[in-house]
Amino acid sequence: MSQEQLGQITESARRLLQTIPPDVIVVAAAKSRTAGQVAAVVRAGIRHIGHNYVQEAQAMRAAFRSPDGEPVLWHMIGHLQRNKAAQAADLFDMVETVDSLRLATALDRCCAEHQKVMPVLIEVNSGGEANKSGVLPHEVETLARQIAALEHVQVQGLMTMGPAVDDPQDLCPCFRLTKTIFDRLSQVEGMTMRYLSMGMSDSYLIAIEEGANLVRIGTRLFGPR
Ligand SMILES: *Cc1c(COP(=O)(O)O)cnc(C)c1O
Repeated sequence: MSQEQLGQITESARRLLQTIPPDVIVVAAAKSRTAGQVAAVVRAGIRHIGHNYVQEAQAMRAAFRSPDGEPVLWHMIGHLQRNKAAQAADLFDMVETVDSLRLATALDRCCAEHQKVMPVLIEVNSGGEANKSGVLPHEVETLARQIAALEHVQVQGLMTMGPAVDDPQDLCPCFRLTKTIFDRLSQVEGMTMRYLSMGMSDSYLIAIEEGANLVRIGTRLFGPR
């Protein structure tokens, strides 16, 4: 990719950031992008990079150089397999897609070895779809309480994708439901709910209206995949 094209990515990232309240974190969804493209959005001020695959993240971390030397934080936003927990514990600063106690327990064990506490979000299947990752809305609180007993992972919020829809407005009920669960968990003794991760390129403004403070954006930053 030419310097000019990378410059255009930086420019579109700057423009996007102008549409987003300063207290909302933008995670650049980096799947299938290069380290150079990611550096171009970091140049615009984005500090959070999201990955869907452990292997892609590993290659990116090896190749990526922060353009201004400031650190960036790496989020796992794709489905995490339990047999990749060890690599994930090493690579990521946050795992947004915890959806079972078995996965949380595997992560906990691996994070203990790294002597770190991993912030995690519980992924909510807010559309109640069959064969979709994430826990069903009525199961979120039970899982959050179970994970709270682990020492090396800490639930800090919720993440949801919602169903594939033609009109992003149709995601409103799913975002609203997830926010309701988030608020309810915030009332639970000992829970630290900080991050509500909802919204992508087509839906981030709606998600922010519904209470998201972390949005995951790919296409709007980098262009079509
Ligand atoms: C790809 C991806 C995004 C970003 O999608 P865009 O429509 O390209 O903005 C957000 N979240 C997850 C989990 C993704 O896989």
